[in-house]
Amino acid sequence: MVPPLLPFVAAQPLTDHHCHGVLRSGGDVEALLNEADGAAAGGGLAFDSLAGLAFRRWCPALLDLPAHATAEDYQARRDALGAAEVARRFLGECGLGALCMDTGYAPGGLLSPAETAGLAGAAAFEIVRLEQVAETLAAAGTGPAGFADAYRAALAERVASPAPGVPVAGVKSIAAYRVGLALDGRRPADAEVAAAAAHWLAAGETGGGAGAPPRLADETLHRFFIWCGADLGLPIQFHVGYGDRDIDLHKCNPLLLTDLLRALDPAGVPVMLLHNYPYHREAGYLAQVFPHVYADLGLATHNVGSRAPAVLAEALEMAPLRKFLFSSDAYGLPELYYLGTLLFRQALSRFLQARLVVDDMSYADAERVTRLIATDNARRAYRLPG
Ligand SMILES: [Zn+2]
Repeated sequence: MVPPLLPFVAAQPLTDHHCHGVLRSGGDVEALLNEADGAAAGGGLAFDSLAGLAFRRWCPALLDLPAHATAEDYQARRDALGAAEVARRFLGECGLGALCMDTGYAPGGLLSPAETAGLAGAAAFEIVRLEQVAETLAAAGTGPAGFADAYRAALAERVASPAPGVPVAGVKSIAAYRVGLALDGRRPADAEVAAAAAHWLAAGETGGGAGAPPRLADETLHRFFIWCGADLGLPIQFHVGYGDRDIDLHKCNPLLLTDLLRALDPAGVPVMLLHNYPYHREAGYLAQVFPHVYADLGLATHNVGSRAPAVLAEALEMAPLRKFLFSSDAYGLPELYYLGTLLFRQALSRFLQARLVVDDMSYADAERVTRLIATDNARRAYRLPG
C-alpha cells in the first residue's frame, strides 16, 4: 500500500518549471510514455516497465476505469473520450500553480502554454529555446557576417515580444543533444561566431526538410547563445542526462559543464540543470558548490515509477533544499503532467516522512521545505510574479 501523502504536500500547488505542450488530438500512449522510439518501442515494451506500471496504476481511475486496466482497454477508452476531455480531466487534477513551458519542440498540433495552463488552472510562462532563435534567423537568410549582432537583437526581441503571448521566464539550451555538455567556459568573440555560422550555414545536409537550415551542432554557436541568454539576465535551462537516442548520454553528465558554470558565476544568472538522471547526484553536487546552479529530476520522476522516492532521495543527498525544483517534463500526454505531479508528491512526502521519523527535521521545517521545493525555489530563481 502506498502511504498517504503528508497533508501539506497533498495541498501544496506546484510550479512546473520545465514542461512541454500536450497534443491537441490523438495520443498514442505507448509511443509517448518514455524516450524510446522506432524498434525500441511498441509491442507493449513501454508498459512492461516501472513507468508503465505506474501509468496503469494511477491513470485509469481518471478515465473511469479500474486501477491496472490493460493498456488496450485504456487506449480504447481514451480514444472514445477524445483528447480534449482527457486533457481536461488530467490537467485539472495536477494541482499546478504555474508552469514554464518550453516551446522549442513543437511539431504542431500542441496546446499553447496559455491553453495548457488554463486547463490546469495555473499561470503560464514561456521558456525560449536558444537554438530555435538561430534557426529562425538562418531560415530568414541571415548571413554569417552579421550573425552575432542579428542573434542578439532577435533573442532580445523574442523575449520582449513572446510569440505565444505569455511572459518569457527563461531560456533553454539543447547543446546536450547536439554537441554534448563539454562546453568551453570562454565567451566566443564575434569573429569566432561568424566563422562558426559560416560553417553551419554552408553545410549541405538539412535537418528538417525543404527550406530548413542545416542541423545546428556547433560548440561555439551553442556557447554563444548561452552567453547571449546570460546577457539578458534570464535563467538558463540546460538539458542534462536522460533523453531520447538522439543524445550521446555519456556526453550529458553535468560535470562536463563545470568550466562554463565557473565562467557564468559572475553573470549572476541562475543555471537550471534539467532531468539529470542518471547523473542526479552529480547535479546535486553542482547545485551545492555553485551559488547559481539549481537542479530537478524532470521526467525521471515518472519514468522510474514507484522508484521515484528513491531517486528523489538520491538527488537530495547533496542538493541544497533551496536549490531543487519540481518539473514534470511532460510532453504530448496530459497523463504525464498528472503522473509527474502525483509521483513527485509521493516522493517528496516519503522523503520528508523519513526525516520526521528520525527527527532530523521538525514538522514546521517539513512544511517549509515543501513550499521551497514545490514553488518558492522556482519563483525566486525565475522571478515569477505572485
Ligand atoms: Zn524536457
